Amino acid sequence: MKPVIALVGRPNVGKSTLFNRLTKSRDAIVADFAGLTRDRHYGDGRLGDRAFIVIDTGGFEPDAGSGIVQEMARQARQAVAEADAVVFVVDVRAGLSAQDHDIARFLRGSGKRVHLAANKAEGMAGSAHLAEFHELGIGEPHAVSSAHGQGIRSLLEAVLEPF
Ligand code: GDP
Ligand code: MG
Repeated sequence: MKPVIALVGRPNVGKSTLFNRLTKSRDAIVADFAGLTRDRHYGDGRLGDRAFIVIDTGGFEPDAGSGIVQEMARQARQAVAEADAVVFVVDVRAGLSAQDHDIARFLRGSGKRVHLAANKAEGMAGSAHLAEFHELGIGEPHAVSSAHGQGIRSLLEAVLEPF
């Protein structure tokens, strides 16, 4: 069985860009508009001879009120339920937000293996920018740049290690 990896995080952190990087596809809609990827989206990925499935999700808002936002949150929760591992994507440039804390709380309670991807880290040398993300209680952040392909292999090796 291929492990299933769900990508979750608040809108605009780079989940779809990471999905495209992992699946080498252009399927996911990457946009400057927050939350455009409204459906869960499945793709095949590979690291050497190891195959996996990736699920992209729309904006994940645990306390979403109604309508499309609620539907997106429902689908993200369902993606987590289906997943063997979760990559929680945060934005190093934007820094920690209240929404990141809410998502972290949900993920810590999910019982899933969660890895933290600190995205948009290209050109941000050193670990000072990463330090605040330890507060999320998810473990050591992996500095990645989904747009530039940096840190992706190391993240994937950690995610796939137990499988
Ligand atoms: P999503 O809403 O989480 O799926 O985010 P998207 O993948 O649609 O990306 C949101 C914005 O962040 C887009 O403008 C992307 O080009 C940009 N972005 C994604 N990854 C990176 C990255 O590694 N570095 C930088 N600088 N921008 C990125
Ligand atoms: Mg998206």
